[in-house]
Amino acid sequence: MRTYRTVGITLTVKKYRGTERLAAFYTRERGKVEAVAKGIGKPGSKLAPLVEPLTLSKLFFAKGRNIDILTQGEVIDSFYELRRHVRSYGYACYLVELTASATEPGQANPSIFEALRASLAAMEGTEDPQVIGWAYSLKLLAELGLSPVLDSCVICEGPPTEWATYQPAAGGLVCNNCQPVSNAEHLVSGATRGLLRSLLTMPISRLERLRISPQSRQQITGLLRQHIAHHLGLRPRSEEFLADLQMPRQES
Ligand SMILES: [Zn+2]
Repeated sequence: MRTYRTVGITLTVKKYRGTERLAAFYTRERGKVEAVAKGIGKPGSKLAPLVEPLTLSKLFFAKGRNIDILTQGEVIDSFYELRRHVRSYGYACYLVELTASATEPGQANPSIFEALRASLAAMEGTEDPQVIGWAYSLKLLAELGLSPVLDSCVICEGPPTEWATYQPAAGGLVCNNCQPVSNAEHLVSGATRGLLRSLLTMPISRLERLRISPQSRQQITGLLRQHIAHHLGLRPRSEEFLADLQMPRQES
């Protein structure tokens, strides 16, 4: 039987047959791997901690004819702190859901793996998991070749004006000359554009230093939600949960 080993982060787990579970991992060496884990419903299962979403593990698989089988492994980091804070946990669930939906098995991309690992680690100790969620979403889109166009107008290809309008179908910004900005939604300011660039290029561990106005927060949230819905064709379930948590934060 052919076997392989890798390091991966558990994305999702679903009931399969009896005590079996079907799990998806994002691995460093092989991209997304879907595999069956047996005996998960039984007490004392050694595999159970490995298929818990948001866990980083060493993983051993056996190649199956139709689907691979998780044979053993060892947890490296269960991101325990993430699970203790409802907002961080919600955003972390959003990231793994997004990764599971946006990627296909068999396409290795170590940059996505490293970005996901760094994002989950950074979310453990942050007061602002939303910013890390945005940065990861932008990095994921960039790796998939689906970044929003922010540096030029998608119609005239000229430089963006101070205020521009985000058009989901065109996948980017339209300048004020091509479409006069109104008070409608989807407006993006020059400041927000600069922040989006920083979110994509700054190391995830340094994102907390960014100062982001409520106005820019709103613009980034709207742009990313629409871009992901339009270009990845999905609206993750955790997004609704997160929307419920979007109460203004109490500053003390
Ligand atoms: Zn234009």
